[in-house]
Amino acid sequence: MSVVKEVIEKVRRKDAGQTEFIQAVKEVLETLEPTEKKHPEFVKAKIYERIVEPERMIIFKVPWIDDSGEVQVNRGFRVQFNNAIGPYKGGLRLHPSVNLSIIKFLGFEQIFKNSLTTLPMGGAKGGSDFDPKGKTDNEVMRFCQAFMRELYRHIGPDTDVPAGDIGVGGREIGYMYGYYKKIVNAHEGVLTGKGIEYGGSLIRPEATGYGLVYFVAEMLATRKKDFKGKVVAISGAGNVAQYAVEKVNQLGGKVITLCDSGAAIVDEEGIDNNKCNYIMELKNVKRGRIKEYSSKYKKVQCFEGKSVWDVIKEKGIKVDIALPCATQNEIDKEHAEALVKNGCYCVAEGANMPCNLDAIKVFQSNNVLYGPAKAANAGGVATSGLEMSQNSLRLSWTREEVDKRLLDIMKSIHSSCLEAAETYGNKGDYLAGANIAGFIKVAKAMISYGIV
Ligand code: NDP
Repeated sequence: MSVVKEVIEKVRRKDAGQTEFIQAVKEVLETLEPTEKKHPEFVKAKIYERIVEPERMIIFKVPWIDDSGEVQVNRGFRVQFNNAIGPYKGGLRLHPSVNLSIIKFLGFEQIFKNSLTTLPMGGAKGGSDFDPKGKTDNEVMRFCQAFMRELYRHIGPDTDVPAGDIGVGGREIGYMYGYYKKIVNAHEGVLTGKGIEYGGSLIRPEATGYGLVYFVAEMLATRKKDFKGKVVAISGAGNVAQYAVEKVNQLGGKVITLCDSGAAIVDEEGIDNNKCNYIMELKNVKRGRIKEYSSKYKKVQCFEGKSVWDVIKEKGIKVDIALPCATQNEIDKEHAEALVKNGCYCVAEGANMPCNLDAIKVFQSNNVLYGPAKAANAGGVATSGLEMSQNSLRLSWTREEVDKRLLDIMKSIHSSCLEAAETYGNKGDYLAGANIAGFIKVAKAMISYGIV
């Protein structure tokens, strides 16, 4: 049995029940098999065993008081997975589904994603099972302060720099940073995704969505295609989805779907930038539901309780490109088969692990261009890295400058994936390429340190 297979089995036994984490380990390690032969030094130093074990996992109590004066208790997490190439870096997720398995899977994937960006950032992830939906601003503030009351002692600009993720946008980062600054008495680059007035970077809110679309443009170019006139399905209606819509529109494509956890909408006329602005206001300011879009605009179909991928499967909607931007495991084998049947030839992941392993196999065996999350959505963390650089330099770059760096980074990630895939015998396989390119750099750094 190969070393990576043994490690997968070990993780299955040791972390039994952590389904998402086991899924992520399997997805990454299986593609790393060709590196074993080329790098016996990795096997000897037990890099494969060591890389699946987090450096540190912090689980803590988050007590806070709601508006009616009642005490609430949530569970907080920070998994500091690997800091071989830079300070720990990765988002914070606030969602009722958050548990150790989900945070470990996200932290593990983050190691390779951050390495791919070419910037010096290690991998981490954190969050809580707190549900911001339906909470007042004051409740969100009190929760964020209670969360930071413990987290602050584990993070720092050279130690661990968290950012946003599901349920953590500008508002939450503001509350967390304000509280950190107060108790530590330092104005320093400890969180990214900050407001522009207090150390944030231009383009950071747009970065994951824009970066995703830049990456897809590179993928399409390998088949002499571009976005012009293409029909695009996007899921989610949050940060990543919103800016993906905006950039697809700029490049001449037509986005016809979005969803949230309550409903999916299909707008065959296309979600143009005016409609996208309405969604930003609806979601980011009014904190409303996507079904309200179908009351506002005519000829829009709304499917309550369904995802975008359910609707495409059931209604046989034709799309050229699919960009899942909501959450993990939203596309299964049947969804993938329906996409292929409906003419889809390019799928790129804005969300983390939105396609399960069977779905990925369907795409790869049908010659669909498949862009894995750790490459396709790395624009967000890359721009967080640029925010860290600006904080350290105490400078602010212009919008154009940050956007240009983002574009260059996405192009470089795209070519690293293709190069690594070819070098290790998997030509054109972005999944293997992304995993291998991200892994090699981290593994070499780990070797340099000896056994620590
Ligand atoms: P947001 O919280 O801004 O938006 C998430 C969207 O997805 C919401 O519309 C939400 O709907 C929807 N959603 C969440 N869970 C489900 C579900 N189970 N079924 C259907 N819809 C769902 O998060 P982001 O846009 O920031 O993140 C989306 C994905 O992108 C995540 O996987 C995240 O890890 C990944 N990502 C984000 C980055 C970033 O910079 N923000 C960077 C890299 C990856 P509802 O409002 O009903 O909950």
